[in-house]
Amino acid sequence: MRMRNKPWAEDYLLSHSDIVSIDLSRKGEIQSWFNKSQPIHIEVGSGMGRFITEMAKMNPHINYIGIERDKNVMIRIVEKAVEQGIENLRLLTVDAEHLTDIFGEGEVDRVYLNFSDPWPKTRHAKRRLTHANYLSIYKAILKSDGEIHFKTDNQQLFEFSIESMSQFGMKLKNINLNLHENEPEDNIKTEYEEKFSNKGFRINRLEASFN
Ligand code: SAM
Repeated sequence: MRMRNKPWAEDYLLSHSDIVSIDLSRKGEIQSWFNKSQPIHIEVGSGMGRFITEMAKMNPHINYIGIERDKNVMIRIVEKAVEQGIENLRLLTVDAEHLTDIFGEGEVDRVYLNFSDPWPKTRHAKRRLTHANYLSIYKAILKSDGEIHFKTDNQQLFEFSIESMSQFGMKLKNINLNLHENEPEDNIKTEYEEKFSNKGFRINRLEASFN
């Protein structure tokens, strides 16, 4: 997601440090950042944040964390969280490669990956959020029965992810090659999901676990 550089982005995020952190300083205190201690679900690459904000409103018994490395994009999620006063949502402006520096072992109950950047060139495969290097990070922070829920319109990324997760020894279930054919009532459409589905792309989805 490309967004124009906003020189004031960092100051804006710092002025909302009650809900967004721009560094690793929340290490070891993720649960105490919330008003209530409850299961933690994270979304990696939240973009403009429709998914994570709607999920948080729908499920007040879950603590949600949106992870988005681009400060200019993160502003849009913070605006939504502030306007709507969502209590069970916190935000981290960090790269996913640092997740083990923030979350303890088994601290996270679920990881959502929605419309992750496909990085189509083979030489960029390690940047894909379902590459084995990232899977080991999710494995370290997920509970043993935790799950990854993944959606994408990109066929190549979906095939790569199935192969990558299978080679990692993960169990895959509920593989759906056309999510919108019988769209589940509780499916929250992300900004990218709406855009690509309107253009006629089929949406793929799967759930995966390490045990
Ligand atoms: N999930 C949103 C949606 O479906 O509308 C946004 C999808 S957009 C294609 C991917 C987002 O992931 C971008 O905003 C990008 O900055 C973020 N992203 C990509 N790699 C990341 C990483 N390693 N760590 C954190 N965020 C990342």
